[in-house]
Amino acid sequence: MGQGPSTSALQQCIEGVANNRAGFAAFAGSPLYQIQWVKPYNLDVLVEPAAVVRPQTAQDISDIIKCANANNVKVQAKSGGHSYQNYGVGGSDGAVAIDMVNFQKFSMDTKTWHATIGAGHRLGEVDKKLHAQGGRAMAHGVCPGVGLGGHATIGGLGPMSRMWGSCLDHIVEVEVVTADGKIQRASATQNEDLFWALRGSASGFGVITEFVMRTHPEPANIVQYEYTIKLGRQADVAPLYSKWQALMADPKLDRRFGSMFIMFPLGAIITGTFYGSQEEFLKSGIPNALPQDGNGHLVLNDWLGALAHDAEKEALYLSGLAMPFISRSLAFKRQDLLGPDKIKDLFSWVDTQKKGTLLWFIIFDAAGGAIEDVAQNATAFAHRDKVMYYQSYGIGLPVTKTTKDFITGFHDQVVQKAGAGTWGTYPGYVNNALVDQQKQYWDSNLPALEQIKARWDPKDLFHNPGSVRPAKK
Ligand SMILES: Cc1cc2nc3c(=O)[nH]c(=O)nc-3n(C[C@H](O)[C@H](O)[C@H](O)COP(=O)(O)OP(=O)(O)OC[C@H]3O[C@@H](n4cnc5c(N)ncnc54)[C@H](O)[C@@H]3O)c2cc1C
Repeated sequence: MGQGPSTSALQQCIEGVANNRAGFAAFAGSPLYQIQWVKPYNLDVLVEPAAVVRPQTAQDISDIIKCANANNVKVQAKSGGHSYQNYGVGGSDGAVAIDMVNFQKFSMDTKTWHATIGAGHRLGEVDKKLHAQGGRAMAHGVCPGVGLGGHATIGGLGPMSRMWGSCLDHIVEVEVVTADGKIQRASATQNEDLFWALRGSASGFGVITEFVMRTHPEPANIVQYEYTIKLGRQADVAPLYSKWQALMADPKLDRRFGSMFIMFPLGAIITGTFYGSQEEFLKSGIPNALPQDGNGHLVLNDWLGALAHDAEKEALYLSGLAMPFISRSLAFKRQDLLGPDKIKDLFSWVDTQKKGTLLWFIIFDAAGGAIEDVAQNATAFAHRDKVMYYQSYGIGLPVTKTTKDFITGFHDQVVQKAGAGTWGTYPGYVNNALVDQQKQYWDSNLPALEQIKARWDPKDLFHNPGSVRPAKK
């Protein structure tokens, strides 16, 4: 905590809220500020917030928001701190980051099977608690270290999303602190417009303190498939990718199946998770469409085992630990998917490029299914019509220009080959190089979001470089 006459008005205000509670806040310039308080995920994106605060109650958050308002400083909530551009600590210098680590409330209503979950939970902890409370589950992504606060509010896509929808499709109600400092509830019947915006774009609309979420019974049996291709040239992998993509694009593909194709320096990996028994998997016809020689294998699992398996596999290419990296992404409608010739060109292009690192990965993940069932304008999430995403990662210490050129070049190649139809990406896979970022993240939902923002946060208090801006009057 700061002292003496040099203490800023913001600091004085936050220290007033802290009221001598230890570990409540730290300010730019204090010792070990970056390592112990800011804790950026992407070490290639330097961000120095004015303050990082660890409130204990919704009232604390309300008071901190009032301090930020009075001092004209931007605010961002930080839950798991896994934003690709460090948006949880503002994404650019000078914000107040509200670290939700103390918001760990959890309870289960065993009549409705709705869980009330504090916004400071990481996904791995949510899974364990849901399991302990009646063997319940919900859809979300694969990294256990990602925060529920940033994940359920932006989308939250995982292998079970084709079956159950995105994580945000599970939200029934939230408690949120808005730009005026009020602690409010939002749901289908309370502050409906705010509730709509919070499901897909919350970083620009408030600080959610707790979620009420619907849950499902855990699937009893899960089959996990993995196929590794160790070929020197990506061009040789291209036909396999084409086959995989055709399976993923099939509108009749069994919704119990989620899958990823991961291109990496030595070749590629196909992962698949089927939520059902081995017998049902065989009956689904999916195995016939997947490569099945000695490079593939199946693992039979239960729910927690399958989550751990996914996380372990993911950690091989994308660590939950902080690292310096560059990332790009793009979403595809069924009609935007590349045909076999263009795929071959794209994969051959990869072979010709200098990468500047041995740590690069390009992940294609299947969407569609239950995500597509929800109308495009039912929540702020605007990618209901997308059947696949690509995300790239170039990791380095530091990330060199060669690596940046490769990752950027790959994106340009995809856009060029996919043609004018390709537009936008899921904002959870932040791509800060996109022109007109907000339009590409929220597409046809953007005008309504800008109006709602003008109503709830006209001064753009909740702000990061990619968040929704208020409509101009
Ligand atoms: C290793 C890794 C794996 C990933 N895997 C997947 C995946 O499988 N599927 C997928 O969909 N995504 C995935 N992501 C992306 C991830 O979902 C987003 O980066 C998400 O926003 C991270 O949330 P967080 O709380 O950890 O991050 P933070 O940096 O804390 O927050 C990210 C954003 O959310 C806002 N936010 C956080 N908490 C709140 C809150 N309580 N109220 C309002 N706004 C809030 C922040 O202000 C910030 O703008 C992955 C990311 C990483 C780094």
